[in-house]
Amino acid sequence: MLLLIPGPVQTRPEVRAAMAVDIAPWDRDFAPEYIAIREKLRDLAGGVAGRHVCLPLQGAGHFITEAALRTFVPAGTAPAPGRLLIPMNGAYADRMARLAREAGREVVLLPAPDTRGVAPEAVAAALAADPAITHVGVVYSETGSGIVNDVPAIGAVVRAAGRRMIVDAVSAFGALPFDLSAQPEVDAVVFTSNKCIEGLPGLGFAICPVERVAASRGNAQSWSFDLADVYDTAQRAGWGSFRFTPPVQALHAFGVALDIFLAEGGQPARLARYRENCRILYEGARALGLEPYLAWEHQGPIIALFHQPRVPGFELQRFVEALKRRGVLISNFHNTEAPTMRIGCIGHVGPDEMRFALNALRGALEEMGVRRRDAA
Ligand SMILES: *Cc1c(COP(=O)(O)O)cnc(C)c1O
Repeated sequence: MLLLIPGPVQTRPEVRAAMAVDIAPWDRDFAPEYIAIREKLRDLAGGVAGRHVCLPLQGAGHFITEAALRTFVPAGTAPAPGRLLIPMNGAYADRMARLAREAGREVVLLPAPDTRGVAPEAVAAALAADPAITHVGVVYSETGSGIVNDVPAIGAVVRAAGRRMIVDAVSAFGALPFDLSAQPEVDAVVFTSNKCIEGLPGLGFAICPVERVAASRGNAQSWSFDLADVYDTAQRAGWGSFRFTPPVQALHAFGVALDIFLAEGGQPARLARYRENCRILYEGARALGLEPYLAWEHQGPIIALFHQPRVPGFELQRFVEALKRRGVLISNFHNTEAPTMRIGCIGHVGPDEMRFALNALRGALEEMGVRRRDAA
């Protein structure tokens, strides 16, 4: 089955095969492997040894995002309570807002359409209007709609306003460029093992400036979600140590995926492959009569959305089943207001797989009685 959901993504056989071993995470043999992964990820984020650290956490992307929010946005009881501004241009921005609110952090919403990246000027204006905002939370690649927010440009206005930034790069990291050294306003950039690095699910990672982590001790109000505690544990017990049992096979397999990623040319090569995947899908689906959700100039390389065909009786789940019978799995939900279908362009897939998916789309549309002129 070709997985285009997107995330967890299609993986290479050698990545999956690396799962089939028993490993003692606390054993000294595994520590060097874990340390090497942390260092490679720090470097990949543009971090520098001694100035930036890689802080992993077990679990899904929501967990590492919550940990970053709790660790860095000052709690209400802190000397100066934090306030988090979030540009609201997609489902993952909604999720960040909920994570922050449920952690008791004050959230300010910046409404924005989900069909383009948020304008940095709008962020600048919101910051100027509310001096109590301490942080801006940005979703780099919005997997709800397929747009990309311009993280370097938004970071520049955050930096100019003397505020801090938290970046949800879960569906961006490894594909879209990111340089922590050029963005000193960033407290944390977070991502997971199972998206653009093409590993298996199980772990989240935050790359952070050391001095910000050290200054955030005691803020998280949660032991499990405290990145400062992850840091302190590393200081005390070594960078190969864990606080709690990790999904160690997923971590081991992630190390294999990361080495393949680096050998393939790293971020620029991955971005080029995903862009081409997306272009083939966007143009091919359009030729089948499907209407893209985004204008091409606002289309990011990670996921493309298309309006569901406006024909009576069209039902997404039935369409997904028809595609599955043809060997392709796409998302069976949408989180845009308009009914859409979401097709991922990431994972261990290339032009051949995208053309295979287009053939499956053609067949499934025919099976459901969607004629070309009905589709859009
Ligand atoms: C996938 C994703 C997440 C995390 O999702 P989980 O299901 O918690 O792993 C967060 N943000 C974005 C932008 C994502 O694409």
